[in-house]
Amino acid sequence: MVMLKNVSEAKFKHILQPIADSCITKEQQELVDFESFFTHTICHECCHGIGPHTIILPDGRKSTVRLELQELHSALEEAKADIVGLWALKFLISQGLLPKSLVKSMYVSFLAGCFRSVRFGLEEAHGKGQALQFNWLFEKEAFIFHSNDTFSVDFSKVEGAVESLSKEILTIQARGDKEAASFLLQKYCKMTKPLKVALQKLENIQVPVDIVPSFPIADKLLQ
Ligand SMILES: [Zn+2]
Repeated sequence: MVMLKNVSEAKFKHILQPIADSCITKEQQELVDFESFFTHTICHECCHGIGPHTIILPDGRKSTVRLELQELHSALEEAKADIVGLWALKFLISQGLLPKSLVKSMYVSFLAGCFRSVRFGLEEAHGKGQALQFNWLFEKEAFIFHSNDTFSVDFSKVEGAVESLSKEILTIQARGDKEAASFLLQKYCKMTKPLKVALQKLENIQVPVDIVPSFPIADKLLQ
């Protein structure tokens, strides 16, 4: 657990913070914080464990989501863990289990996180899943693109957009509906203009895509 938190902290400091400084509006930059980033990561992992798994198809057959969605499963499952994880954060806050101060920062940290994960590439499940979420939230006007090439969250629209995408993905999984999964991914997993602008900016200022943890003592022991 300590290592997980240390590695997350390094990712935040060397990747998410520079992304926030470059891509988020001045007014919302300070809302990007480690606590939100890390708590969402925990919720992401927890949400892999909940939601539809074994399902009953319309013809009465018993199956699993993975078997029905085949090659589309990974990207959709990663998107589910992200967006339902974000929904879960709001739920935990409403239950008084997490502080209310997290509400705004979790949405803005998530927006900055979109640009981080899309950089893994649209061929990779996390990158693909993140493009789907960004473009869905952008279409619902929960994310705003400003003329100076920065982004912000519209707090009046984001909660509804998170809920509608969660519902969409969970329903596709519960039905084992590969056709609907394919339609959703084709429509939203695209390198849209705002995404392109953000990624180009990060390329220009050379923000790393990921960190490489080093374990000098372990390396010595293995020699
Ligand atoms: Zn995951």
